[in-house]
Amino acid sequence: MPGFELFGDAERKEVNDVLQTGILMRYGFDGPRKGIWKSKELEQLMCSKFGSAYSQLVSSGTAALTTALASLGIGAGDEVIMPSFTFVASFEAVLSVGAVPVLVDIDETLTLNPEAVEKAITSKTKCVMPVHMCGSMADLDALAKICRENNLILLEDACQSIGATYKGKFLGTIGDAGCFSFDFVKTVTCAEGGAILTNRKDVYTNCDGYSDHGHDHLGVDRGADLHPFLGYNFRISELHAAVGLAQMRRLDEFLEIQKRNHTALKKILSEVPEIKFRSIPDPQGDSCTFISWFLPTETITRAIVAEMKEQGILAGNFYWFDNNWHYIRKWDHLKLSKSLNPLNENQKQALDRLNQTSFSASDAIMSRCVSTAISLTWTEDQIKEKGTKMVSAIKKVLAKQQVAF
Ligand SMILES: *Cc1c(COP(=O)(O)O)cnc(C)c1O
Repeated sequence: MPGFELFGDAERKEVNDVLQTGILMRYGFDGPRKGIWKSKELEQLMCSKFGSAYSQLVSSGTAALTTALASLGIGAGDEVIMPSFTFVASFEAVLSVGAVPVLVDIDETLTLNPEAVEKAITSKTKCVMPVHMCGSMADLDALAKICRENNLILLEDACQSIGATYKGKFLGTIGDAGCFSFDFVKTVTCAEGGAILTNRKDVYTNCDGYSDHGHDHLGVDRGADLHPFLGYNFRISELHAAVGLAQMRRLDEFLEIQKRNHTALKKILSEVPEIKFRSIPDPQGDSCTFISWFLPTETITRAIVAEMKEQGILAGNFYWFDNNWHYIRKWDHLKLSKSLNPLNENQKQALDRLNQTSFSASDAIMSRCVSTAISLTWTEDQIKEKGTKMVSAIKKVLAKQQVAF
């Protein structure tokens, strides 16, 4: 799954280019930087690689989402529909621009259920934010149709699914904007970083300024830049961009290994007829960072997780239902509005409502789901060993369950 597993000489070389000049900032210092522009180079590479008209690097995936939301004009009073299964960053970004996160159920794609989205639309809804979880994609045709019919913005959180495609187009390039994360456990890493992709010039111009204190970046003298609007500092450094550039050039290599290891492990798991796999709107486009699979009941799933733990083979397997970072069930800090500073009235009311909301449809899916992370460093033998051990643990539990029934 993560690019850090294959960190090496290519990454070191790019960083050394920057260390040679000592110009660690991405803007200005045109003379002393001696033609080294790692951030610009990485932005250009992303545009050509993903077929996006524009791209903007920032300091994290969370910063990318925040910048994209602000640049799309989403703020106070606006509702953003997002899934109950995601990483906390998705709602953090929505709250940070003053908007209201409206969480809705997922389906067996592990992403937004389009019917749940439609039901959640109100006169305040401004944006639908699918999160392409665990390497694979949401049903973008259905979501794009809902957005078109209701005049809503489509913002893709593609932080976990760089390189995945939907019907031939890269995730992150299909909505009004899309966001990537390059944090340490993502497919492409630069320690901390992120990017916004968009085909809309107005959105790009906003992202470019917003992520750098509102600078218009129109002149050669940074000190003389105008500030047509308010911004923040979400800049990436040249050191981070240098690592990201080397990693991005290796994305196809990472994806190829991921797909190969994914196919091999999935084949072994498929021996168990009780296992059902995640449904994927475009299977060809899966980036294969994880295999996500379902057991028939929560009881069986919990017993299998416990058995794998007992046997010391749980590492790399995620039972999100009990996990503090990714699923609504454990987000008490959100549901109880535990904010250090006062939230606005709309946000407070929405979080109170959220605290009263049942997510039984999501629970019924997440309580039966395990995701297995795909490593880039596995050998064929290791995959065989891992798969065989998992299958025997699963079969052992299933056999016991059958006796019990
Ligand atoms: C990682 C991640 C983010 C945030 O990225 P950071 O770079 O860690 O800030 C946002 N959304 C999802 C779904 C993620 O997995």
